[in-house]
Amino acid sequence: MENNPQRHRVVIVGAGFGGLQAASKLRKSPVEVTVLDRYNHHLFQPLLYQVATAVLSPGDISAPIRQVLRGRNTTVLLAEASSIDLQRKVVVCDGGDIPYDSLVLATGATHSYFGHPEWARFAPGLKTIDDARAIRERVLLALEAAERDPDPERRREWLTFVIIGAGPTGVELAGALAYMTRHSLPRDFRRVDISQARVILLEGLPRVLNAYPEVLSKRARVDLEKLGVDVRTGAMVTGVDELGVSVGDTRIPARTVLWGAGVAASPLARTLGVPLDKAGRVKVEPTLTVPGHEDVFVIGDLASLIQDGKPVPGIAPAAMQMGRHVAKNIRRRIAGQPLEPFRYHDKGSFAVIGRGSAIGVLYDKIRLSGKPAWLMWLGIHITFLIGFRNKLTVMFDWAYTYLTKRRDVRLITGLHAGKLPPLQPGPALPVSEAHGDEHPGVGMARSESEPTHVH
Ligand SMILES: Cc1cc2nc3c(=O)[nH]c(=O)nc-3n(C[C@H](O)[C@H](O)[C@H](O)COP(=O)(O)OP(=O)(O)OC[C@H]3O[C@@H](n4cnc5c(N)ncnc54)[C@H](O)[C@@H]3O)c2cc1C
Repeated sequence: MENNPQRHRVVIVGAGFGGLQAASKLRKSPVEVTVLDRYNHHLFQPLLYQVATAVLSPGDISAPIRQVLRGRNTTVLLAEASSIDLQRKVVVCDGGDIPYDSLVLATGATHSYFGHPEWARFAPGLKTIDDARAIRERVLLALEAAERDPDPERRREWLTFVIIGAGPTGVELAGALAYMTRHSLPRDFRRVDISQARVILLEGLPRVLNAYPEVLSKRARVDLEKLGVDVRTGAMVTGVDELGVSVGDTRIPARTVLWGAGVAASPLARTLGVPLDKAGRVKVEPTLTVPGHEDVFVIGDLASLIQDGKPVPGIAPAAMQMGRHVAKNIRRRIAGQPLEPFRYHDKGSFAVIGRGSAIGVLYDKIRLSGKPAWLMWLGIHITFLIGFRNKLTVMFDWAYTYLTKRRDVRLITGLHAGKLPPLQPGPALPVSEAHGDEHPGVGMARSESEPTHVH
């Protein structure tokens, strides 16, 4: 493809849900589009927790940006934007400046540790493939350590998983970890009963999945507890370190802590020098432009827009609708027409709790829970996954996991000599006892004197 310098240059930073839609909708327009992203793949974030919990492989939920956007007017660059210079009209990148006539910023969000960045080391969050792989490895290593560790106290710590934040990500992780430890893995371990692992979900607010109607929150809590998750609401975390979590005076010893709580806008927003909201998102005009700059659009999780008294939510459908809208507004700009205000259409949202259980709201009216919600959740996620191959492999993997209860994507890469507890000869569970879900009476460790819970 030859670049045509006469044509209007559209630069899109970020090939997530919003950026990809904007680029796709500009494909046939008389513009030169440059899409840049710091990764070479588009990521389907809603299924990241399934990579973190060993159901899916990273390749199943990602697609090469080049392949998705191949077409006549689009150049794809692997590059990280460090700032935007609104005066010079350039995106400042790791390797130089990229000039634009119209700019679309779609760099999404990152984790927020509520003023405690030091917690990040001990409680990783889930946003990228690297995060999901790191969490998977942490969880699998904790189970390996529990199998090796002869000390009952430490063993309990290895088998305690704390998830901070009961929004959709925290709930998904908690449900999946509870299922995995109760049903998928116990047969694979001989010295320790993995089914006795504790999954604790901490939420500072009074209920889980706070963005959903109260009746659905209650249902979600019941379903989580049925799965074996210890749900603690009104539990404001005051400390996190490598040996556990503090909630006020209560200490929860745990070797694996995961973060599903705060969200902050991508730091690129700060470089614009325009008004931001509390989460660092750009307060955009109804047309999705930056105030005072009709040539700069901000969309998706990076944008803050109040509509009918409510913020437009930071979810994939909103980002996609915004992406389509800015493509239209860019075409209007080029044609010398006034820009149109964006209108978010809330078709609904779902949160999955575990196998056969989800909650959801459709068109702001219809409330669903249990299996019907879960089946809809499955259908929607397959529909929106990018790439035919991904749809097929994910459907196959889900069917396989559903029927066998197995978790096969259990790679621990790298060598871990010296990081695990010392190897000591220890008794193995009799084969009939090593199946925690089928033998509920089996204790966590071999010693009868051990209590099963730590408070
Ligand atoms: C674990 C998890 C689960 C979720 N589950 C759901 C769900 O079930 N349903 C739902 O609707 N929503 C869900 N969401 C939210 C949804 O994924 C986001 O709302 C959506 O991705 C926002 O789209 P976006 O285009 O604004 O940003 P993103 O999709 O996050 O894309 C941002 C892109 O920008 C790139 N980027 C970032 N900074 C730079 C830079 N400086 N330079 C270059 N490139 C950069 C990133 O690599 C990325 O490709 C979930 C999110 C997470 C993290």
